[in-house]
Amino acid sequence: MTTAREIDASKLPERLEALPGIELVRRATAGVPAYLVGGAVRDLLLAEERADIDVAVEGEVGPLAEALGGELVEHARFQTAAVSVDAHEIDIARTRAEVYEHPGALPSVSPAGITEDLARRDFTINAMAVPLSGEPQLIDPHGGVADLEAGVLRVLHRLSFVDDPTRALRAARYAARLDLGLDPDCERLLRSADLSTVSQDRVVGELARIAAESHPSRALALIDEWGLLEMGSAPRVAAALERLFAASPQWSEYARRETAILLATAPGDHPARLRRRAGKLARHDRPGSPAEVQVLAHDHVPEVLAMARAAGADWLDDYVGRLRHVELEITGYDLVEAGVPQGPAIGRGLNAALAAKLDGGAEDFEQELRIALDAAEADDVAD
Ligand code: ATP
Repeated sequence: MTTAREIDASKLPERLEALPGIELVRRATAGVPAYLVGGAVRDLLLAEERADIDVAVEGEVGPLAEALGGELVEHARFQTAAVSVDAHEIDIARTRAEVYEHPGALPSVSPAGITEDLARRDFTINAMAVPLSGEPQLIDPHGGVADLEAGVLRVLHRLSFVDDPTRALRAARYAARLDLGLDPDCERLLRSADLSTVSQDRVVGELARIAAESHPSRALALIDEWGLLEMGSAPRVAAALERLFAASPQWSEYARRETAILLATAPGDHPARLRRRAGKLARHDRPGSPAEVQVLAHDHVPEVLAMARAAGADWLDDYVGRLRHVELEITGYDLVEAGVPQGPAIGRGLNAALAAKLDGGAEDFEQELRIALDAAEADDVAD
């Protein structure tokens, strides 16, 4: 699906002035050629709000980051810094050229001017800049505005996905978020992107960014459709998770949406193991009592339960909304004081009391204690 839109580039200067935090950046970059770049320019043209300001400087990043104050995370290898100041996230990078030694490798970088810096970027719509001093004239050497207007994603050169196949995953993220289509040449190149040349960490990094989007399932469906990764049921599960978290404040408070969606989609043994656990829970017969719900649910991390719930285990709502908050009035010390020896009998006694309480069979301290002691004793006999 593609949305054609009108872009009024003449609005850029006034939108730039209105950008929260831009004054800070201007003050810090005074005297150095600096530019607003990348997604920040794209979103300014689209009049979309965004949390971070992307800045490129033709010079050292360190002094600029220092001048901005705030909290700094510096990546020396790439001459980039992320500064957090007064609720503004400012990403600063030195303008640079990149060389890819082999497909999928991280690039070697060397300082270069803004023109080369724009030429190393992923898509035309992300390859624009606006100078932060002097005339705020849009620099758009690759036709980014025209592609934004046409609703098209286009790479800057034929080898773009060979150099960095993660761009194909980025394409899915932008296409889904901004309702863009692929330029036909770009689509041909993208469909032969080979993600096996990239480390699993980088693939997971891009999937994590997709998981943080408003509609990750759309991007995941595109990844599948374009033949980039075998997604299996992941887009469907992600869509169900999107619906669950959108509809349920209690699930949103309990589990992390982004983590659950990432676990539902990511490659690797650990996510696969957690997906199997969620699947097993979802296929389990509906529990007959709250105590049984508790037993089935309490050993799992919240995101596993969210995946199981999204796959249909609606009995987990009671666990998340109510049962997990139920606490006993007695503790292990009460059992020790009553003569139960340290050891497994304590745990079994407490479990029995909790099960009774969840099922409505223990209403106060005395009843909990009696049930716990009976269970501890019975278990002792069994031991
Ligand atoms: P978002 O809107 O989700 O914050 P963004 O467009 O700002 O995303 P980032 O990943 O923050 O993208 O990167 C900032 C800019 O750096 C991009 O707009 C793009 O120009 C460039 N860039 C990022 N990753 C790549 C890449 N793998 N290849 C080429 N250019 C990239």
